[in-house]
Amino acid sequence: MNLIDTHAHLTYPELEGRIEDVLARSRSAGVTGWITIGTDPEHIRKALALAERFENMWVGVGCHPHHANEITDADIVFLEQAAQNPRVVAIGETGLDYHYDNAVADTQKRLFRAHLDIAAKYNKPVIIHTRQAFDDSIAILAEYAGKLKKVVIHCYGGDAVQTKLVLDRGYYISFTGTVTFKKSDALREVAKMIPLDRLMIETDCPFISPEPVRRIQPNEPALLIHTAKLLASLHNLDLDAFAEKVTETSKMFFSI
Ligand SMILES: [Zn+2]
Repeated sequence: MNLIDTHAHLTYPELEGRIEDVLARSRSAGVTGWITIGTDPEHIRKALALAERFENMWVGVGCHPHHANEITDADIVFLEQAAQNPRVVAIGETGLDYHYDNAVADTQKRLFRAHLDIAAKYNKPVIIHTRQAFDDSIAILAEYAGKLKKVVIHCYGGDAVQTKLVLDRGYYISFTGTVTFKKSDALREVAKMIPLDRLMIETDCPFISPEPVRRIQPNEPALLIHTAKLLASLHNLDLDAFAEKVTETSKMFFSI
């Protein structure tokens, strides 16, 4: 089995110092590829260096909406340069987060559009982070209709109506361990609606350890297997058949 963890933060301090062990455990579990996401200029630099060291590792580059207040014009210039690195397979995560009050909506929207401009210019897929901001995020994406290569909504938590809209737009959906949580019955129903050629999986590690290992901290790519098993059962497939399909979807999405 060869799963790809399509959204991990391998440069975060919880994982960075013991990356060799983390990747060895991941390979043993059948998770043999990784997209590591840089969320600010410092982590983008680290992610690019890491992806030079390890095979089957690629990079997403973005300035997270949490940092919207600190991002300068020079950072956007840096982001555009980083986007042209051959290890970079996506722009993001980028989007809107109204859950945390870190930056006002207008500042976040300006930063989001700057990312989408870069994605359109360099023909890269986009990884969207949206939290309590679905309508605004979808409206901004609509401004770029026909200009973006591909779009995935990461750490998906939408309801049935939102999901229909996302699928009608042609976007992809990526699940973290939140879909395994005991309270996530509604999300599991949504997961059954999503065809496997639009579905990807991710850990978002070091965050969001899945059930039944929620108490293991930090989360790491090896634990992706639990999310994969749950989604395989929702789609009435055995794990190998499910893995083959989502890996094919992930390779297609990121052109890897
Ligand atoms: Zn993330």
